[in-house]
Amino acid sequence: CVASGSMKIYEEMKRLCADLDGVEVVAQKDVPHIGIAKTGCQGLCELGPLVRIEPQHLQYVHVQIEDCKEIVEKTVLRGEPIERLFYKHDEKPCEHPEDIPFLNQQTRIVLEHCGNIDAESIDEYIAAGGFQGVVKAFFEMTPEEVVEEITKSGIRGRGGAGFPMGKKWSQVARIQSDVKYVVCNGDEGDPGAFMDGSVMEGDPYKLMEGMIIAAYAVGAKDGYIYVRAEYPLSVARLKLAISQAEAYGLLGDNILGSGIDFHLHINRGAGAFVCGEGSALTASIEGKRGMPRVKPPRTVEKGLWEKPTVLNNVETYANVARIILDGADWYRTIGTEGSTGTKTFSLTGAIENTGLIEVPMGTTLRHIIYDIGGGIKKGAAFKAVQIGGPSGGCLVEKHLDEPLDFDSVKKFNAIIGSGGLVVMDENTCMVDVAKFFMGFTQRESCGKCGPCRIGTKRMLELLQKITEGKGEMADIDKLEETAKFIQSRSLCGLGKSAPLPVISTLQNFRHEYEEHILENK
Ligand code: SF4
Repeated sequence: CVASGSMKIYEEMKRLCADLDGVEVVAQKDVPHIGIAKTGCQGLCELGPLVRIEPQHLQYVHVQIEDCKEIVEKTVLRGEPIERLFYKHDEKPCEHPEDIPFLNQQTRIVLEHCGNIDAESIDEYIAAGGFQGVVKAFFEMTPEEVVEEITKSGIRGRGGAGFPMGKKWSQVARIQSDVKYVVCNGDEGDPGAFMDGSVMEGDPYKLMEGMIIAAYAVGAKDGYIYVRAEYPLSVARLKLAISQAEAYGLLGDNILGSGIDFHLHINRGAGAFVCGEGSALTASIEGKRGMPRVKPPRTVEKGLWEKPTVLNNVETYANVARIILDGADWYRTIGTEGSTGTKTFSLTGAIENTGLIEVPMGTTLRHIIYDIGGGIKKGAAFKAVQIGGPSGGCLVEKHLDEPLDFDSVKKFNAIIGSGGLVVMDENTCMVDVAKFFMGFTQRESCGKCGPCRIGTKRMLELLQKITEGKGEMADIDKLEETAKFIQSRSLCGLGKSAPLPVISTLQNFRHEYEEHILENK
């Protein structure tokens, strides 16, 4: 929306409303106050810029500067809808956001406030029920009960590995230490992923609330949010949210008179993909070069400044307040037995409705692509979807009806990862796709261990050779052999998963590799 001009629309609406004398006004006396707010992302990337009018709850799409005057005169002042600005589905205008199929087929927990509240107003978050999770945890539950509730909910970390969150919290809570930390990974480096950025921009308070509850549960007094520097709006909104929470006594010393102290800090990463790995991330916060280290000790035992540390990503923390408020039993009703709750995905590529979605774990790819995403662009045939970014793999036609959850996706040599979904149509060359992702991981390899540093380079060279028509059949064997070596010998997750795009494309599209080789013979 920002890229397509929403900030200009915001300024124009402000100008028009501040100067209502110049507008033909009907029943202006019935309009005691007009407020204009910048919300976060509603997820409808294809339809921006978006304007929502409350209390009529009207949703306008593709709004242009020229539409602003009419919106103020007709809708804001007289409550009249402007039909041409509604999204049309099957020729019918969708007046309210809930009428739009892209939105009404989702289950929104993490994204419940994104696009619905002013992302710069803590008052709006509180009015929407915000910080009730903190109040309940602090005044009705012991730290042990909070950990127990999170464990019972079955929630697994949304950053990629899917490690049970309750287990991590209970390990840190059990360790005796004067100093502990709560850290949030907001580094989101996968190409095509923008879920965490959207949460930080659209509802920074929800993330903050989850971290405050985590700190209470494990006994930490300081927390760090590690945000990639390419997310300046996230950084600005988090900073503002922190200062507002401090002013309201929701952060700092003696929170809400409870005797509990918790201070929250922001660290900006410089864009290295490897800093999404736990030990590299904590090293980066400490001011060192962001490089993974050998484990054990694990982050829960010796994390930031060698102290016990809870490290989760943005989406994971954004689930916490609702679990505490509505209970683990409620949370377990969403998703699957082994992967409870919802998952946010960024839907990009050759799909009609690109955008940000949240669905229960276990939702099928077919439902996401065809019902929510509106199908493949220009009626082309579906070919594959890259899931989990450069560390993930591709899913194909035969996987369309498989449930998407942590365990089922692993069976197909892919991972859910943080939730990037790049959809590809029949015109996509899968060897090129594998080369793109291998190029990415090769550049991002930190170089600490040989299998990853040298192995990814060799694999990239082989892929270049094949796509340039200079390959031989033996190169496919070399690719497979090197992939196995890198997977088994690399130090961290980046190296271990770097060959996945090649492995899964070879598994599903081996003939495309062979065609590249044969067409130039
Ligand atoms: Fe660095 Fe790659 Fe080794 Fe990880 S696997 S430590 S990114 S060289």
